[in-house]
Amino acid sequence: MLGLGNLLLDFALPPRCAGCGDVSDEVGAFCAACWRQLEWLGNSGCQRCGLPLAGTEAEMCGRCLAEPPKLDRIRAAVAYDEIPRSVALRLKYGRKVALARTMARYLAPLRGEWSGDAILMPIPLHRWRLWGRGFNQSGLVAQELSRRWGLEVDCRSLMRVKRTRPLKGLNHIQRRKAVAGAFKVARPDDIKGRTVVLIDDVLTSGSTAEACARVLRRAGASRVELLCWARVVRPSQLMR
Ligand SMILES: [Zn+2]
Ligand SMILES: [Zn+2]
Repeated sequence: MLGLGNLLLDFALPPRCAGCGDVSDEVGAFCAACWRQLEWLGNSGCQRCGLPLAGTEAEMCGRCLAEPPKLDRIRAAVAYDEIPRSVALRLKYGRKVALARTMARYLAPLRGEWSGDAILMPIPLHRWRLWGRGFNQSGLVAQELSRRWGLEVDCRSLMRVKRTRPLKGLNHIQRRKAVAGAFKVARPDDIKGRTVVLIDDVLTSGSTAEACARVLRRAGASRVELLCWARVVRPSQLMR
């Protein structure tokens, strides 16, 4: 899909900032003004869930110690805010597929210590939504990461079997209920004993990824991690 046409476009047009669209020096990067507004999360924070551990020496946050999440490791490139949100929306609804490469570029340093048989797995869309949109935005990011890391992408083992209503405005318990039973593993043999790395664009409460992790573990995955482009780090942003 990203063949010759895409390549030609890269040569024909001057590179533009992935945030504001101004002409910039580098393809798929951010201009200085946008860069200053971005809060990169990196590999710091809670070893497990990645949330910032302000001013403590601890390796894990209190929440993960009290109740270990279904996901063994969560990492996001950037804190959710105006620019990361716009990048995610333009990929999803504006079909700016080059942005998947931008996301992958900033996700690349967050690679875990996986062996070569780890599987990249985009959080699936319900098939009606996939038909409507024509592509899964997280699938495009997974393809880009696969190219960088040489890991397999699996878009078929995990299925979204129930359409879920938008989770916006729901609290944690309501979200968990809304996604219960939404996912199913179609080919358990393909994931048994392997590390599955879920790929998502925006992480809000994590209920969706947790629901995926639950069924993947039940189907025999040895480890389930989550990599996402942007993540809500302040609860006040959740209700937006
Ligand atoms: Zn910019
Ligand atoms: Zn934690």
